[in-house]
Amino acid sequence: MRAVVYHGPHDLRVSDVPDATIEDPQDVIIATAATSMCGSDLYLYQGEMPDLAVTGKTILGHEIVGEIVGVGSSVTRFSEGDRVTFPFSVSCGTCSMCTLGLTGHCSTSGKAIYGFRDLAGSHAEFVRVPMADGHLRSVPDVIDDAAAVLLSCNLPAAMIVVDAADVKRDNVVAVVGAGPSGLLALQLLTDRLERSPFVLDRVPHRLDRAASLGGIPIDVEADDVAGIIGEVTDGAGVDAVIEFAGRGDAFDLATSILRPGGVFAGGGVYRVETAHPTSLALLFANDLQMRLNGLANVLPEIDRAAQVVMEGSIDTDNVFSHRIGLDEVSLAAEAFSRRDDGFHKMLVTFDH
Ligand SMILES: [Zn+2]
Ligand SMILES: [Zn+2]
Repeated sequence: MRAVVYHGPHDLRVSDVPDATIEDPQDVIIATAATSMCGSDLYLYQGEMPDLAVTGKTILGHEIVGEIVGVGSSVTRFSEGDRVTFPFSVSCGTCSMCTLGLTGHCSTSGKAIYGFRDLAGSHAEFVRVPMADGHLRSVPDVIDDAAAVLLSCNLPAAMIVVDAADVKRDNVVAVVGAGPSGLLALQLLTDRLERSPFVLDRVPHRLDRAASLGGIPIDVEADDVAGIIGEVTDGAGVDAVIEFAGRGDAFDLATSILRPGGVFAGGGVYRVETAHPTSLALLFANDLQMRLNGLANVLPEIDRAAQVVMEGSIDTDNVFSHRIGLDEVSLAAEAFSRRDDGFHKMLVTFDH
């Protein structure tokens, strides 16, 4: 089968690799219909998590919709021909973490993530799904492939973080990070607030996209962030921040614009951030409410995310800027990494 294989930082190559096959009775094999690349895949692509990608072996990707073409003998919930998606992480459904709903922390799978280390991901014609009954999910036919791909990670992750922000209608809210998940969060927020949320980023085309979705763009490099927010909040700061940049400087910025008692709802991945200047004294002295969801437990939210899609409240066409085939993933990954003008998120489709 053909797959995109990691060959080192900024080096993805389409290759022929051994077919995905049933290795365990709980496995399912999916023929990929569509996949994408998540912002968290960029940590691997850019070489920032060298221990999580194996040169010449790792197949990236944890977002998918596809059709089941192989079913292990002990799988009970799925059959060949079913249209399915999976959450980015593998979970068994029965361990103590899964029972608590903390599916991103499944102790049976060891928090395995598709496209990390030696668990092959979705940038391939076929994907093996271990513990399929535990975390695979059916996708209704009324949800198109583009929207279905968002069910694996970006949309439920955005829903979790927006819920964690616990906003009131009259709140002033800021979204930090205008990538795909940040702007999905913006779309989810709009109905819950009387006033438009601020959206903070440093990439002009992302800010333009945020403005087109009803956000108030703030360029963190060109604009007076503290001045703009201070003016609206009488100098107090915003009631809640939704943080989807996943970088130390974004974390610092987010905590600096919160009012005392404000809520920090984070979906950003801080895997590579081991030091940054935010003062614990600041978090303490301002009674900040920290709610981190970077290793998001998206499985319990997938069905609700599907419902949100079916209600038509998410503009998925505004999420995908580029529609490509598997051969173009390498170029698209580099454009995504560079935040090239106009590049927001890719949809990769397959002909089987
Ligand atoms: Zn993801
Ligand atoms: Zn588990």
